[in-house]
Amino acid sequence: METIDRNKKLLSVALRYNAVFVDADRKALAHTAHISKEVAAFLLSLSEKGYVAEEELLNALKTVPESYLGEISGAIDTALGIKLNWTPLVKGWDTPTGESFIDHCITFYANYLGGRERMRGNVLPCGHFIPDGTFPLERYNGCPFCGTPFITSNFIFKGQGSKKKSLRLMTLEDLCKLKSSLLESTVPLDATQVTSLKTLIDVLGFDGREAISMKETSMIVAEALLSKAENDDDIKRAGSVFSSPADILRFLWHKKTGRLQIIEPKTLISHARKLDSHIVSALDKGSEAADRKKQELKLKYDRLMCRTVAIWLNALEMDAGQACEIMHPKRGMWVRMIRALRLGEYSRKPGYERLAKLLDYFYKDDYPVWKGKLDRYLGINCGCVDYPKALELLKQRPGTFARSLFATMLTMGPKMPMEAFRQILDKVPSRLILSLANAADLYFDTESARIARPLTGSTKRIDHNKKLENFTPEQRDELRREIWGLYKEAMTRRFKAEDISGTNGKIFIDKALFDIPVSIGDRSSSIQDTSAALQGTCFQVEGDAVRLFMQWGVGLKAQHLDMDLSVAICYKDGHREDCGYFNLSLPGAKHSGDIRNIPNQVGTAEYIELSLPELQETGAKYVAFSCNAYSYGAISPNLMVGWMNSAYPMALSDKTGVAYDPSTVQHIVRISESNLDKGLIFGVLDVDERQITWLEMPFTSQVVTKMDTSALGSLLRRLKNKLKVGELLQLKAQAQGLTLTDNPEEADEKLRYTYTWALDASAVSKLLA
Ligand SMILES: [Zn+2]
Repeated sequence: METIDRNKKLLSVALRYNAVFVDADRKALAHTAHISKEVAAFLLSLSEKGYVAEEELLNALKTVPESYLGEISGAIDTALGIKLNWTPLVKGWDTPTGESFIDHCITFYANYLGGRERMRGNVLPCGHFIPDGTFPLERYNGCPFCGTPFITSNFIFKGQGSKKKSLRLMTLEDLCKLKSSLLESTVPLDATQVTSLKTLIDVLGFDGREAISMKETSMIVAEALLSKAENDDDIKRAGSVFSSPADILRFLWHKKTGRLQIIEPKTLISHARKLDSHIVSALDKGSEAADRKKQELKLKYDRLMCRTVAIWLNALEMDAGQACEIMHPKRGMWVRMIRALRLGEYSRKPGYERLAKLLDYFYKDDYPVWKGKLDRYLGINCGCVDYPKALELLKQRPGTFARSLFATMLTMGPKMPMEAFRQILDKVPSRLILSLANAADLYFDTESARIARPLTGSTKRIDHNKKLENFTPEQRDELRREIWGLYKEAMTRRFKAEDISGTNGKIFIDKALFDIPVSIGDRSSSIQDTSAALQGTCFQVEGDAVRLFMQWGVGLKAQHLDMDLSVAICYKDGHREDCGYFNLSLPGAKHSGDIRNIPNQVGTAEYIELSLPELQETGAKYVAFSCNAYSYGAISPNLMVGWMNSAYPMALSDKTGVAYDPSTVQHIVRISESNLDKGLIFGVLDVDERQITWLEMPFTSQVVTKMDTSALGSLLRRLKNKLKVGELLQLKAQAQGLTLTDNPEEADEKLRYTYTWALDASAVSKLLA
C-alpha cells in the first residue's frame, strides 16, 4: 500500500477520536524544538476550522515533513466537507423571499397550461418560464419552480466558532490498541466503529491471534481476510473466525444484503416496497422495487464462493448432530443455500468427508430439536404442559432463557422462572442482563407504546403483551423492580469478584457520563467522521442561534435527487408545527429553500436557522431535527447532516446564501451506505434547557409531518430511563468500596473515567464483561 494512501486512511480513523495520526515515538518527543513557520501556518488554519492541537500533538507535528501537514489538512477538509458546494437555493435566506403557493400556481399555469403566451417573464437555464411579479428571481441561486441550482461556489466561512475542539496525538501503537479494542468489544459495533475497524484491518492486518468477542465482528474480519485470500489455506484462515454453521449463513447473507444480522428475504422485499411507495399514487413504484429486490436476493454463486463455503463447513470442529440442530431454525434457507452453492458436489470429493457427514445428517432430518421439546413442555400446539421440565431445558441455554424471561414470567407467574434464572445468573452475559433491565420499564408498562427497531431500520410501535392484563399495576411494577434487582445483584456480584488491589482506591467519574446510556441495542447507523460522540450526548447551546445543515449529492452527476431538511417544533400546549420545504418560515425557524435537483459532482446544501429567543417566546418546548429522502429510495449515501452553534453571531452571505463554517460545527454525521432508512431524526433541541441531545431515530416516511410525535416522546423517555455509564460506575464504586473524587489527577490511573475513556468501545464493554 502506498504511504500516502495508508496515511490518509489512518488519519481518517484517528480524526473520529479527535486525534491526528503521526507515526512518532511518543517518548522521544522533545518539548524544546521551536515552531517552524510551516507548523505555525498549519496551526492557524487548524484554528480557523475550529481546532487546537494539544501539546503532545504539537511536539509531534514539529517532527513531520511539510508535505505531511498538507495530508493532515486534506483529511480534516474531507471530514468537514470543506471543499464542497455549500450554496443553498436562496441568497440571504435569513430574510424570507415571500414566495407563495400562488407563485407556484401561476408559474405552473404559464409553463404547462399555455399561459406563457400572454405573460412577460424570464426563461431560466432549466427551461422554466418564470412570470414577472411571481418569484423575486434576484433572490435565487437557481430555479425557484423546480429547485435546480445554477450557481455553486466553494466559498465557506471560517473561524467564527467560540469553542475550539482539541486534537490529541495518536501513534501507530495507539491505533493498534484501538484495533484490538474494537475486536474485543462485547457490545455490537456501530457504523462508525465498523468503518474504522475495516480500515484498520486493511492497513494493519490481522494475525489470527487476536481475540474477537462478537459474531458480528467476526463477519467484518472474515470479509477483510477473504478479500485478500490467494489460496485454499488463506480461505481456511478467513473461515477460522467461524465456530458454527449459523456464523457461515450469517456471513453469506451479509454478503448478499450488506447487513450484519440475518433478515429474512420477505422482510427485505416488503421494506423495498415501502421505500419506493410514493404519496402520489401515480408515482408509486413500490411493486417494481419489490420485484427488483426479489431478483437481487436470488442466490447465485460463483465457483470460488462455492469452494469457500465447502472448505469452511468441512473445517468446522462442531459435531454433525449439533451443527444440524443449529441449522434447523433456518432450514428453508439452508436447503436453498446448499443447492445454490453446489455443496452436494463438493461433499463427494476426497478431503470433504466432514461436509459429507453433515449433509447426510441434515437431509435425514433425524436430529433432536431442542426448540420442539421446549414448545411441547410450554403447551404450545399440544396439551402436555410441564413447566419444571421447560425450565430445566431453558437453563441449558442461558442466552435463550434471558431473551424469553419476560414472556416466561407472564406464562408461569414470576416465582418459578425467577428462581430458575437466578441459578444460572452467572452464566448470562452482563450485557444481556442489562438489556433486560432497560427493557423491563417499557415491557411491563401497559400505558406506553413500545418502540421496536427492526433490523431494517424503521421504527415501529408495538402493542404490549396481552397477558400483562392478568396482572394488576402493582404486580406489574413489582415484576419490573424484580428485574432491576436481579440486574443490580448480578453486577454487584461481578464487581465484587474483580481484583482491585494495586490501585489507590480513588475513582473519578466524569459528570458527562451520567447522560450517556450504556449502549447495547440502539446502535447508530450513521458515520461520524470528525468525532465519535455517543448517542445520548448533550450539547449545550452557546449563542442564540442553532443552524442546521445538510449537504448531499457529492460525486454524482446532475440529476433529480430531492432530500429534505426539516424540523418539527413541539409546543408546550401540545400542538406541533413543521418547518421544511412546504413551510419555509415559522416564528423562530427559517429554511433556505428546497433543492430538488443536484448540480454536477459538487453536491448541494440546505440550511435551517433556529432562533432560541423567538422559539421561547412562542412557547416551543422541543425541536426535532430530521432529514428525509423525497426521491425514490433510501437516503443518499453521500449525505452529511449536522448543526452549527457559536457564542458569536454566525455570518450568512447575502450574495450566495452560503452559511457554512466548519469551526462552528457542533456535530456532524455521514449517512452510511447500508442505511435503509427513509428518514432520520438526528437531534432534539430542548428550548428551555438550551440543550441538544444527539440521537438517531429512523422512520419510514416521505415527509416529516408523518413523524409520530408520541414515538419521539417515547424514545426520549427511553433514552432518559436507560442505565447510564455513570450509574454503572457508581455501582462499581459501591461494590468495591471505592472513594469518589472530583479531581481526575487524584484518582487511580485505572479508575479514571473520563468522556474520552467512554469513546473506547471495548473499555465500556469491559465493565460489563
Ligand atoms: Zn426550473
